[in-house]
Amino acid sequence: MYYFENTIIEVQQGDITEVKVEAIVNAANNTLLGGGGVDGAIHRAGGKIILEQCKKIGGCPTGEARITVGGNLPCNYVIHTVGPIYSGGESGEEQLLYNAYYNSLKLAKEYNIRSVAFPSISTGAYGYPIVQASKVALDAVLDFIKSKRFPEKVVFVLFNAKDFQIYENLISEALKD
Ligand code: ADP
Repeated sequence: MYYFENTIIEVQQGDITEVKVEAIVNAANNTLLGGGGVDGAIHRAGGKIILEQCKKIGGCPTGEARITVGGNLPCNYVIHTVGPIYSGGESGEEQLLYNAYYNSLKLAKEYNIRSVAFPSISTGAYGYPIVQASKVALDAVLDFIKSKRFPEKVVFVLFNAKDFQIYENLISEALKD
């Protein structure tokens, strides 16, 4: 567990659908109609109410975020954001990935959601290299905390051991005293 300003930052290895926070973030696609990876896991565990609300929302541009209830999940809300598809890094991917994290926290603040868990957005099917993506994720989250003094807790949830170690190394180095 780490601190930045007054926010607790945690890094965990595991399944984000089991994390007990007020909102988990979904690495969705532009349709918001469900997909594979973490998106599929969230819809399976959360139940059909999430898809029903996503259909009403009607999609989400890359880098933006939308919100639904958490259905059967332990969280109250799911924040659906869309990361970029990585195609070499010269197509604005970094800014779009930054926006996905930043706008997810912006939406959390609007709903007074005090604890948020993120998966590693764009680094699965969307192909963003994990080392670079982890730096963008941390930059966006720390920038948000610094300017808004919110939320109280952010959890980075990594599905596999290698990604977990990359995050753990980055964050322990960035947030050491
Ligand atoms: P994207 O399309 O944004 O790349 P993916 O779902 O394909 O999204 O992958 C994003 C990351 O989510 C990958 O690192 C993948 O290992 C991870 N992931 C898959 N399932 C889960 C889960 N249940 N909890 C947390 N992370 C998950």
